[in-house]
Amino acid sequence: MDDCLKILKDHKFKITPKRKAVIELFLTSRKCLKPYDVYKAVRKRLDSLGLPTIYRILDEFCRIGIIKRLQSDDGQLVYAFCSSQKKHSHYFVCLNCNKVQEVSVCNINGISRYIEKNLGAKVESHQLQLEGICSECK
Ligand SMILES: [Zn+2]
Ligand SMILES: [Zn+2]
Repeated sequence: MDDCLKILKDHKFKITPKRKAVIELFLTSRKCLKPYDVYKAVRKRLDSLGLPTIYRILDEFCRIGIIKRLQSDDGQLVYAFCSSQKKHSHYFVCLNCNKVQEVSVCNINGISRYIEKNLGAKVESHQLQLEGICSECK
């Protein structure tokens, strides 16, 4: 929590009860959440809250690296807590319980070499999200 509040301060964001409630939700659930799920959960505690505010907060948190935008299997945008701040990392999402785990290993060189060799292109960045069944759901 303190790390997240520090990131907010570093980016000159005010620590409001709404922002704090959203951070708390992500820290306790560790799952990928849809904006509407965040809205429903946070509204239980703060009733003067609209869905547009939630979208705005999620957007801010993505920009400063507190959460990360992921893709769900039905194509909807979902968000998950992001513990490593600047480090490049990948995510494993459980298809059963929606839990999100960071994967710090990045072993994409084989694919990059394939693209460079076969397409003659240079790979500069990549995003990788893996899905499956987590150890608890297996
Ligand atoms: Zn699971
Ligand atoms: Zn990578």
